[in-house]
Amino acid sequence: MSWEVVIGLEVHAQLATRSKIFSGAATAYGAAPNTQACSVDLGLPGVLPVLNQEAVRMAAKFGLAIGASVSPRSVFARKNYFYPDLPKGYQISQYELPVVSEGTLLIELEDGTEKVIGVTRAHLEEDAGKSLHEDFQGYTGIDLNRAGTPLLEIVSEPDMRSAKEAIAYMKKLHSLVQYLEICDGNMQEGSFRCDANVSVRRVGAAEYGTRAEIKNLNSFRFVERAINFEVERQIELIESGGKVVQETRLYDAEKNETRSMRTKEEANDYRYFPDPDLLPLVVEADFLQQVKAELPELPDDKRQRFMTQYGLSKYDASVLTASRELADYFEEVVQSSECEAKLCANWVMGDLAALLNKNDLEITESPVTAAHLAKMIRRIADNTISGKIAKDVFEAMWAGEHDGDADGIIEAKGLKQVTDTGAIEKLVDEVIAANPGQVEAYRGGKDKLFGFFVGQVMKVSKGKANPAQVNDLLKKKLDA
Ligand code: ADP
Ligand code: MG
Repeated sequence: MSWEVVIGLEVHAQLATRSKIFSGAATAYGAAPNTQACSVDLGLPGVLPVLNQEAVRMAAKFGLAIGASVSPRSVFARKNYFYPDLPKGYQISQYELPVVSEGTLLIELEDGTEKVIGVTRAHLEEDAGKSLHEDFQGYTGIDLNRAGTPLLEIVSEPDMRSAKEAIAYMKKLHSLVQYLEICDGNMQEGSFRCDANVSVRRVGAAEYGTRAEIKNLNSFRFVERAINFEVERQIELIESGGKVVQETRLYDAEKNETRSMRTKEEANDYRYFPDPDLLPLVVEADFLQQVKAELPELPDDKRQRFMTQYGLSKYDASVLTASRELADYFEEVVQSSECEAKLCANWVMGDLAALLNKNDLEITESPVTAAHLAKMIRRIADNTISGKIAKDVFEAMWAGEHDGDADGIIEAKGLKQVTDTGAIEKLVDEVIAANPGQVEAYRGGKDKLFGFFVGQVMKVSKGKANPAQVNDLLKKKLDA
């Protein structure tokens, strides 16, 4: 009997505002505990929340970017529950009327197929504080710096059918919120995290199965592993005669398993009601128009443009537009080198990406600037160096030699390509004279030996002979 997996994600993106959603306290990460929580965040008697317009602007930006409707009128509600890191006893969120509803996100899978995932809603809410269990023996510390930090909770339709699809969706969202500059995307610091709702059903079944919600996953790898574990658990449970119960589960990365935290609370357990301290949120047409005008080029549009403007394949265009910074870097290389885009793409996606990866660096931290890489690529295009020698030049640039200047490195190391026909002819003659046996075999029909001769000439030239000329001359002489 085969099973179908059904997944819906609730992603929490921390909005990159400087102050909190309902107070003027700072949102900066990493401050000493409880130094960034004001009377509003603490919920002291008599204080009133005031909505941060910047948070609304960011939510609207997101809504427009996913083709959703941005509600002209939405409502903040109190979600009541007790937890030590929630001093007010309720979280201000949106319930029945969210600010953003009914959008879509296009995801691309590894095999190149695309799929549209529905985004049910995105609503504004405040974050809670943090409980610190490690620092105090026998006690729990409470840090309220995070209380009141603006979050955009983005709820998907149960449209994903595998952990891979869930990851593709999450990555796409992650890229989008950073393009929009509404979230820094820092997953280690918790700025972008997700709850995964997972259920299974028999293939062909009309109804969805009962779901479990796995809370607070803060890395793509954990999301994938947690979902896969959960799917296995549910299938085994049902196949052995059991029933999945709707509950909240926790993923334990060390043991790679999910464990039950609590049975799922129903919405009515939270006793949601409109927050009497806040007026309904009204988003006026003018405001929305202004937000729309400020939208940057979106990832899908950029990818399409890279394909048409630069003649890149869909794959290359996807890789290069995965982040706005990478896309900008690539475009700067193309523009300042004035070389073929594909050649530039190969260097950015190849040698540069490999070294960034190896050193765990972001493109913005690259020791080789786009201008420097462009200069080096120009030297390949104008035949000063071969593509092979360029790898050595690139490594020297990475190491900061000659301040990353390709010409300086080529000059100092004597890496200039030999294009003088007479000089190359001399090397070709030497190689032919030194290998009479191979010459005879080649002339006797062993065509494959041609590569051997090319290799030999390149070797005696220390990689500096122009490969095209070496090929031509060898052909001429050997076939003579
Ligand atoms: P709640 O508010 O209780 O978390 P929602 O109905 O808003 O519940 O759904 C939360 C998430 O769970 C959504 O992302 C939705 O797509 C997903 N979901 C709903 N039903 C299922 C199901 N049977 N299997 C997997 N995911 C589901
Ligand atoms: Mg939920």
